[in-house]
Amino acid sequence: TFISFEGPDGAGKTSAMKAIVAKLQPTIGQKLTVTREPGGNPISESIRSIILDRKNTAMDYRTEALLYAAARRQHLAETILPALANNQIVLCDRYVDSSVAYQGAGREIGEAAVAEMNQFATDGLLPALTIYFDVPATVGLKRIKAHRNPAKVDRLDVEQTAFHDRVRAAYLRLQTAEPDRIKLIDATQSPDQVIKEALALIQSILPK
Ligand code: C5P
Ligand code: MG
Repeated sequence: TFISFEGPDGAGKTSAMKAIVAKLQPTIGQKLTVTREPGGNPISESIRSIILDRKNTAMDYRTEALLYAAARRQHLAETILPALANNQIVLCDRYVDSSVAYQGAGREIGEAAVAEMNQFATDGLLPALTIYFDVPATVGLKRIKAHRNPAKVDRLDVEQTAFHDRVRAAYLRLQTAEPDRIKLIDATQSPDQVIKEALALIQSILPK
């Protein structure tokens, strides 16, 4: 069973995932595969470091989108597909929807174009469930400024509220277009409530 976690920066996705894994793992027989993209294997990690390198200020937005798709492909081939073939539950921090939202809408290179490119990269494989942690851009950015490790490498320095508004709007459009796959959680709620709702969604799609 393939499950992805999505959301704008500062939605609390990564910390929620940690808590979910800690609660879920003891209740199920098989080992959980917990992974993130871009990354998860040496080739994808190398691509990730190119994307996130602050020195690469000249990176063209389509180049960035292609690199994300390439890292995704490798991660799918090396990590996700083998785990699914072994009947494991795969929890993945970000997947195709991130590219549609960040590169397609945030970078404004086009949501349909990015979706099409990722269709090629993934051969159309989508998660059985995508949990979307929804927060307004202002809330997410405020949380990041308050909590994020300043040494953490990301591209936020070039991204402002308007960018994050576009990212969130794209996520909401994706959720409206695919309500069976993408389930929204209001991530402005308390962490406990967010985790509870996410666990209930996961339990609802796991084989009994
Ligand atoms: O929240 P997370 O640690 O997964 O995101 C890492 C950084 O990569 C964030 O700054 C996010 O804005 C960016 N990102 C992106 N496009 C993607 C995935 C992540 O710009 N497809
Ligand atoms: Mg994160």
